[in-house]
Amino acid sequence: MLTAEIIAIGSELLTPDRTDTNSLWLTEKLNGIGVEVKLKTVVGDDDARLEEAIRDALKRSRIVITTGGLGPTEDDITRKIAARALSRRLAYNEKVLETIREKFMRMNRQMPEINARQAMVIEGAEVLDNPNGTAPGMYLEHETRAVVLLPGPPREMRPMFENFVLPKLMTKAGDLRVARRIMRVAGLGESAVDSVIAPVYTQYDNPQTTILFNRSEIEIHLTAQGKTETEAELLLDGLAGQIEERLGDAIFAFRGETMEQVVGLRLAVGGFTLAVAESCTGGLVAERMTDVPGASSYFLEGVVAYSNDAKVRSLGVPAEFIAEYGAVSAQVAEAMAEGIKHRAEADFGVSVTGIAGPGGGSAEKPVGLVYIALADDAHTEHRKLMLPGDRQLIRWRASQAALDLLRRRLI
Ligand code: AMP
Ligand code: MG
Repeated sequence: MLTAEIIAIGSELLTPDRTDTNSLWLTEKLNGIGVEVKLKTVVGDDDARLEEAIRDALKRSRIVITTGGLGPTEDDITRKIAARALSRRLAYNEKVLETIREKFMRMNRQMPEINARQAMVIEGAEVLDNPNGTAPGMYLEHETRAVVLLPGPPREMRPMFENFVLPKLMTKAGDLRVARRIMRVAGLGESAVDSVIAPVYTQYDNPQTTILFNRSEIEIHLTAQGKTETEAELLLDGLAGQIEERLGDAIFAFRGETMEQVVGLRLAVGGFTLAVAESCTGGLVAERMTDVPGASSYFLEGVVAYSNDAKVRSLGVPAEFIAEYGAVSAQVAEAMAEGIKHRAEADFGVSVTGIAGPGGGSAEKPVGLVYIALADDAHTEHRKLMLPGDRQLIRWRASQAALDLLRRRLI
């Protein structure tokens, strides 16, 4: 597989205010034609460091792509430094200069003299036209390497890459295609997932498997290469099927769907309705469910019943339950689920009550203790959870567990 690396250039990208998004976009495009991105660098507008970054990249990667630093000002150093790193001359190109002048003329402006810099072209480079700006890009073959210089603004970089660079790299990459798939698992830890599926996926180099932890779920990323997209997809199907055999219901998404999308789809397909009653999650379950377009066909109501009084008044939780067992208890969770189900006349009522911290915990009821409950016409059940993490994570994980309880009921 061809390897590429990306160098994002610009001091602003090293501040908290600006993010390098170009490399993410480029990576997706490169993966799509079977080119793997092995490394990326963010480097400020600094001559020495940029030269070093380009030289290093040329040592190890077949394709080196830079973005940024092609503007007309003093801090736009990419042309000059790339030429230096490649030991090639940089010279004015009259044709390019004329094109830039014309662009300004069409805007009824005189070209400022500093823009002439943008007509400096590295010896041997092909000039890439910039339909959305003045800075042209460059493409050159250097020894066994392809070097591509692209402008920084995404609206200039993207069309230039798609129109001029992608076709060239496609030819280089041959006809390899890459397909990816993300499977998501709920209710199991990273090592548990790995011990169950490692015997399967370690048998394959293609697809490649990566296991990632993501807030409250494990993601299994599969990447396959094939001569065609169909071939790559078939390879994914094969391994995904074997993983499913091992993990079963714990997998809630096979193609990167979110938990709320999966639950929403199952509710819609079954023609069921849902209402939720939340305490420690403060509306997060309702927020997630209603984030899915079309939720109005199954989501009826969400109540945030934070105080004890609200639980009694809005959900009909018996005050004795709260007095006897506490607001964070199995009895109260179940009464909340039944209460909201009844109040909304929904098929399912889901509830969450717990201690998200950092304060409010005790030896008996520590931070992270959460009860979730699910009520339908036939019966009510609850789960007691001990969730790790800070306040935000506990809330997120509680919402995930509540949705997963419903998902499993809907299977
Ligand atoms: P430049 O080509 O260095 O003059 O970049 C001009 C502008 O493009 C910057 O101010 C950013 O707003 C944007 N830009 C540059 N590099 C990137 C990047 N890697 N990702 C996203 N935006 C970028
Ligand atoms: Mg810049």
